[in-house]
Amino acid sequence: MRRGVGRLSRRTAILCLLLSVLIIVMVAGGTVLTAIGEVSRHANQLDDDRSRQTTAGALKTFLTQLGATLNDYAAWDDAVANVYADDTAWMISNLGDMSDNSALFDVTLVLDNEGKAILAYQDGRPQTIPPQDFFDPSFWRLLEEAKSPNRAIPEARGFVRTRKGIAAAGVALIRMKSGALDQPAGNRRYLVFARHLDGKVKALGDTYVIKGLHLAAPDHADANYVAIWDPAGRVLGKLAWPSRAPGDVSYSEIRNKLFTAMGLFGFLLAAIFTIGFIEMRRLKSDEEAARQLALTDRLSGLLNRAGLFKSLASMIGEAKDTKSDVALLYLDLDGFKEVNDAYGHGCGDDLIRSVSAGFRCLIPEGAVLARVGGDEFAIAFVRKNCDAAAQSLAATVLNFFDEPFQIGERIVTVGTSIGIASSQIGTTSGEEVVRRADIAMYKSKESGRGRAFVYDTSMDIDRETILSLEGELRKAIEKEELGVVFQPVVAASSLDIVGSEALVRWNRSGGRPVAPDVFIPVAEKTGLIEPLGLFVLRTVCARAGAWPDIGIAVNISPVQLRNPSFASQVAAILDEAGIDPSRLTFELTEGYLIQNPQRARQSIERLKALGVRIALDDFGSGFSSIGYLRQFGFDRLKIDRSMVSGIDEGDAARSLLEATTALARSLGIPVTAEGVERETQAHVLLDCGCDELQGYLFGKPMAAEALSALLAEQDLARRHREPRQSFG
Ligand code: C2E
Ligand code: MG
Ligand code: MG
Repeated sequence: MRRGVGRLSRRTAILCLLLSVLIIVMVAGGTVLTAIGEVSRHANQLDDDRSRQTTAGALKTFLTQLGATLNDYAAWDDAVANVYADDTAWMISNLGDMSDNSALFDVTLVLDNEGKAILAYQDGRPQTIPPQDFFDPSFWRLLEEAKSPNRAIPEARGFVRTRKGIAAAGVALIRMKSGALDQPAGNRRYLVFARHLDGKVKALGDTYVIKGLHLAAPDHADANYVAIWDPAGRVLGKLAWPSRAPGDVSYSEIRNKLFTAMGLFGFLLAAIFTIGFIEMRRLKSDEEAARQLALTDRLSGLLNRAGLFKSLASMIGEAKDTKSDVALLYLDLDGFKEVNDAYGHGCGDDLIRSVSAGFRCLIPEGAVLARVGGDEFAIAFVRKNCDAAAQSLAATVLNFFDEPFQIGERIVTVGTSIGIASSQIGTTSGEEVVRRADIAMYKSKESGRGRAFVYDTSMDIDRETILSLEGELRKAIEKEELGVVFQPVVAASSLDIVGSEALVRWNRSGGRPVAPDVFIPVAEKTGLIEPLGLFVLRTVCARAGAWPDIGIAVNISPVQLRNPSFASQVAAILDEAGIDPSRLTFELTEGYLIQNPQRARQSIERLKALGVRIALDDFGSGFSSIGYLRQFGFDRLKIDRSMVSGIDEGDAARSLLEATTALARSLGIPVTAEGVERETQAHVLLDCGCDELQGYLFGKPMAAEALSALLAEQDLARRHREPRQSFG
């Protein structure tokens, strides 16, 4: 469905793209064509104007040439002498004959003052038609103008109509070259030259390069013409020519090239757009893939922490819209570190993949699954009233871990601790839900692992206490503000002090002392136990030199034992203090042995190889197995205070005590009883075969100086052979 929608929109996008290319090409082409059309129109206009000016100039030159010729002949001393003397022969040969085949004029008239022809020649022959009939009446205006006393030069010229056609005509007073004339006004004579346009127009067109120049009627309607006016202001005709339209020619020449160019441009543009579009889509999909990769955990293929937060944000939005809740299960694998340490990271990775695959099958449809840390996972889903569904899913997940995993040829058992939190109707932010589920998960861990807890606000208080304690404890270790006290351990038979147990103390600066039961778990969780443990050991060793005759016991935590370099650290401290390792007993509780027997045995063996002894502490306080004594090679058993205090409660407890000590004895393992507060208890314990006793009855944990004083007192008593009180 999603693919279909994607394709449809891609096709639409390509169509839009091509359409825009078409529009761009059309607009660009249209603009270019309009511009070129404008240029060509302008070119046509320029050419027409130029032709008009040239034609007008040609007409003017035609008339001017005639005028110049007329002036040459009329202002001529010989003409004055002969014309006014009525020398007809001279007039014919010098004026009349000149009209034959002349490029300058084809009609010659000599008129008297009244306009009567004294000589009339046309094309070298006498003209029979009287001038009044030959010329249009407007011609006579020229004669009047030439006669006019206002004119500087007694000449006039203009275009006139004749019987033969349109002609340029000029009238000039025949006079001396100097302009003088000694003739009375009534006896003046005028020379007339006329030159017909008809038949000369083509030559004019050739001379002035105006193709198609022709003489047209006055009513000629074409745009390209120059009108020929007569002296009366009437249009005689028009010199016309067809427009050459050079712009149109250029336009039509380049139009085809332009269309080809536009086609190429369009093709290029379409190609660029298409390549750009494809490239953009590729970049987008690369970007999408990179974004997806950034949200994915490589090892498991699940979402990573960032992916979880992103999904949670949208789930919370959905929950708000649909009035639902977002449930979050935060899971931490129990025992994963041990698998990793024991079998290597390859095996650990395979385990993560197997667990991820299992989770994928368990989660409800639409749920989000993420790996948020090394061995931490999260499952989130949206549901109305999600609490029951979340708890039921947690139960399913816990069941899933009942079965071991097969990793290659190994069978691996891990568990999980689960914390559950929810965002009711999307009111709690993703970050806060994760924080709450994480706290609830820690609660599950603390409560014995392999279980699920739902977050409640009291957990925050615990967590805050741990967090604030952690900070203070870290500073206290750095500043060596911790102290060590020593509790005497006495021989059951003689009550002589034969040893002491070192117990760490923390007097918070400005606060009350914090019990080891409170801060030791914090130190274990936060890794502070390692520097703390080494500090205790160093302090003990520094003091123990003063008590060469007694043994010293130091408690160690499983976390220390897990550190492979712990044994060598111990060896270095003992060596530095010059303490015989056989004087030192490490006290260890059972928890670690149950969790990881194989590694525990290795660590114990390394310590024992140094010559150090190992005691099983707090026996009887929880899950106690006498089998451990032999299995791990313990050198001593310490019976827990809870078992000792049970002595007063009845026979059953006493029987259990007797059975325990009998078993230890049968294994050849000596027994210490802890928490002995009353003499009655001490008697029973002695009867049961405990060889060492420890408790407030014999001494509370005390400063090293106090123990030194006690030992000195004991020494003195021995020397005076004053045996202490005995139960023997
Ligand atoms: P634990 O090793 O079993 O130490 C004996 C605890 O019993 C001590 O408590 C001691 O003060 C208490 N005790 C001894 N005799 C009596 C008695 O007659 N009556 C009563 N009511 N209590 C008695 P403390 O010092 O509070 O230590 C608690 C636990 O903290 C220790 O139990 C041990 O597991 C742990 N711890 C103490 N110091 C260290 C240390 O340096 N390192 C580690 N890892 N754990 C330590
Ligand atoms: Mg102890
Ligand atoms: Mg103990």
